[in-house]
Amino acid sequence: MHRLDTICVFCGSSDGNDQLITDAAKELGQTFAKHNITLVYGAAKIGVMGALAKSVLDASGKVIGIIPEFLKKKEVVHLGLTQLVTTENMHERKLKMHELSNGFIALPGGIGTLEELFEILTWLQLGLHTKPIGLLNCNGFYDDLMQLLETMVRKGFVTMENYELLLIDSTVEGLLQKMAAFKAPNIPHWLTKDRA
Ligand code: AMP
Repeated sequence: MHRLDTICVFCGSSDGNDQLITDAAKELGQTFAKHNITLVYGAAKIGVMGALAKSVLDASGKVIGIIPEFLKKKEVVHLGLTQLVTTENMHERKLKMHELSNGFIALPGGIGTLEELFEILTWLQLGLHTKPIGLLNCNGFYDDLMQLLETMVRKGFVTMENYELLLIDSTVEGLLQKMAAFKAPNIPHWLTKDRA
């Protein structure tokens, strides 16, 4: 079983307009606190990010926020976190998130969420880490993305092995179970000569 005591969550800095998504963020936060899992995230107090952090803190859990200096100035930073880490830039922030966490989850969000999810998935594909990455497909939010990934497999741009690296579930408990059972392939498929 994978040790999962610190999980980094990528999610929207906007609220969106689907209450089920906010509810899922709250449920994830409560589940983290219940299982003693520390939340690592982008330190904003707004949007789904803020709802998630609040739910962990309200349930007496731990939250580490990591924010680059330039975003801190926008007065959206959550100042009530267990720990706030300031980085020089976005790249350093991503490295710090990776260094502190032993798993990653993407909740619904926008462009920033997708960028973070796919960079950490690319690192796994390249064998730069072996940590589980989960996608919470809340209320069908990621159905279209899953379809695009299937098209990428069908058209020969993503191998089935790499497609399967992304763990997907519509429930919080189901996703955490898949992540705990995750075992990264020994040899990154990407690096073998018969990768097609
Ligand atoms: P988006 O999905 O475009 O709303 O972007 C969300 C992701 O980008 C989060 O996981 C954050 O790491 C980062 N991000 C975007 N806006 C902010 C903000 N105002 N404060 C902190 N992080 C942010």
